[in-house]
Amino acid sequence: MEDLLDTPNMDNDQLKERMFELYLLYKLGKKLDLALYLDDFFNQSIDFLKKSLTIEDFCLLLREGDDKELKMWKADSVNSEILKDVSFKIGEGISGLVAQTGEPILIQDVSKDDRFLHYKGKRTDIGSFISLPLRLSDGSIIGVLNVHKQEANAIQEKDVTLFMTVANNIALALGRMKASETLKGPSNYDELTSLYTRSYFRESCQREYSRAQRYGEKFAVLMIDIDHFKQFNETYGQLQGDEVLRILANILRKNVRLGDIIARYGGEEFIILLPNTDTDGAMIVAEKIRCEIAQQDLPVGKGPKATITITAGIAIYPDNGPTVDDVIAMADRFLYLGKYLGRNRVLGKL
Ligand code: GH3
Ligand code: MG
Ligand code: MG
Repeated sequence: MEDLLDTPNMDNDQLKERMFELYLLYKLGKKLDLALYLDDFFNQSIDFLKKSLTIEDFCLLLREGDDKELKMWKADSVNSEILKDVSFKIGEGISGLVAQTGEPILIQDVSKDDRFLHYKGKRTDIGSFISLPLRLSDGSIIGVLNVHKQEANAIQEKDVTLFMTVANNIALALGRMKASETLKGPSNYDELTSLYTRSYFRESCQREYSRAQRYGEKFAVLMIDIDHFKQFNETYGQLQGDEVLRILANILRKNVRLGDIIARYGGEEFIILLPNTDTDGAMIVAEKIRCEIAQQDLPVGKGPKATITITAGIAIYPDNGPTVDDVIAMADRFLYLGKYLGRNRVLGKL
């Protein structure tokens, strides 16, 4: 993303345009993150490609048949028809090569590059072409996003980063979809809040732990518990309590970055994994959440408005413990220390 702003020769308009693109990508990321029932996800991303990036001509190919082939999966309406039976072996053509190597390929003039197979002769009207890998968080390549332009030299080198960000967002959502389709077991999502479940959270932590260990990075675990929630339920009823859990879940979603994992850890306990984050960073997020929920008027019918507060604990790998369990246990300890000290506060580091 930094590359997008590293543009010394840009004039003001170009810069504005770039900022707008960044903003749209940010929105797209958020949208994809929230698109838990991914039915409308493709319409959203296809809309985004068309309207915001003015890309009309594109397709997505996914690995199939024991992962040995790339098959046409989604495209704009014209390509959906023309390319519906096209497939490539891994390594075959540009798409196959990108799926094999995981590196994007930009071809400014396809007439000068005989690796380009024109979709096996079905598209002879393409001038420039870019193929981008769809990479899951575990590093595997599940397919490619191809963008075509009729004229040669119509895709600029500087757009590669932008297109890569779009491809990464799509891959992220696809990864989720794939996980929930292939697991077929219990869903990874909590029914009430649509946040991740405790077990999915623990899996994610293990993955992040391996990564952090390998690259010498940190991650933060933020544990949150609603204060005196039993009393809230007793006063306003279980259904209102459930609604509060959903409201808090939305506040959590709003305040984290793409790539952070939020789960409902227990009844009224939530937990967030923040990769590459230290106590100070996690503290900022936690404080934003704490202030926002405390200021929220809760819908409890007529009469005086109700509010709730939360208490949170933060622990960092590796500073607060050598394993995932140790780090989570430490966050829990900080949380309970916060309760002991009077609630409505965030504690970490001492
Ligand atoms: P504190 O955490 O501040 O010490 O007090 P508390 O009253 O929140 O703590 P405790 O852990 O004793 O109680 C948690 C309560 O959360 C119990 C239950 O009434 C409520 N709760 C747990 N799960 C749900 C749920 O799914 N829906 C609703 N409405 N309430 C729930
Ligand atoms: Mg509790
Ligand atoms: Mg509580």
